[in-house]
Amino acid sequence: MLDAFSAPGQFWRGNLHGHSTMSDGRIGPEEACAAYRDAGYDFTCLTDHFRPKYDYPVTDTRPFRSEGFTTILGAELHAPETSRGVDWHILAVGLPPDFARPTETESGPQLARRARAAGAFVAIAHPHWYQLQPEDGVALDAAQAVEVYNHTSFVHTDRGDGAVFLDTMLSRGLRLNAIAVDDSHWKNGDAFGGWVMVKSKTLDPDALLAALHDGHYYASQGPEIHAITREGDEIAISCSPASAIILVGDVSESARAHGTNLTRARLPLERFKGGWCRAVLVDALGRRAWSNPLWP
Ligand SMILES: [Zn+2]
Ligand SMILES: [Zn+2]
Repeated sequence: MLDAFSAPGQFWRGNLHGHSTMSDGRIGPEEACAAYRDAGYDFTCLTDHFRPKYDYPVTDTRPFRSEGFTTILGAELHAPETSRGVDWHILAVGLPPDFARPTETESGPQLARRARAAGAFVAIAHPHWYQLQPEDGVALDAAQAVEVYNHTSFVHTDRGDGAVFLDTMLSRGLRLNAIAVDDSHWKNGDAFGGWVMVKSKTLDPDALLAALHDGHYYASQGPEIHAITREGDEIAISCSPASAIILVGDVSESARAHGTNLTRARLPLERFKGGWCRAVLVDALGRRAWSNPLWP
């Protein structure tokens, strides 16, 4: 939680999960990259479905980098099968272009480990949409983060929220961070709903990827978190105008400030000691921002 704000550099806005005509997206890779650039994003990662019917794409977005805009290569990986009997959906950001296709016997957790060993940042995709169970989260031991919000899952099924799944994992002792993503397919207004703000000295794909691995980011649908610092037994948060600033932790534990146009709050850490907490901001439009967890 704190490292993202104490690390040197500035925040860069990016989408980590999206599709193009290289799999089941409606528009081509160049158009998809341009759409993010034109919407004010600093970077994007096209994560087309790494499936045989699409010939296992790691979509090459390098030609679409430009001054002030970059891309990371990645894919959404699939293998049989979760506890509910459907294919895994595993987000791998930062894959090499020649990442080998899965073998017939490779499981989801094995595939995720291989992606991580190849340098990728690995996240659990849309857990609520696919009704992932706690044992799935435990099995996917290469995962570094959970999609706390997936915009396409929200638009298509009203199951965009991954916070309950994330908290279940945290309370089982897993150390997972939180990302918000679009999972854009360019259908039904499924873009520009959730993103990450990654702290890095430079807008360089390798630097961004290193920052993702280090947890130097927060997730948002709109609100900006300017700083989170620990001051003795309190957490101090400053942000864009919010109507709620909340620390949430194990079971019913929380600390919170409510008001109009709040731009800072100091919240006690006492009740989270020995466990975990994470910060959530809500603005007047109901849009949220999420910090990574802290283990005080
Ligand atoms: Zn998916
Ligand atoms: Zn997807």
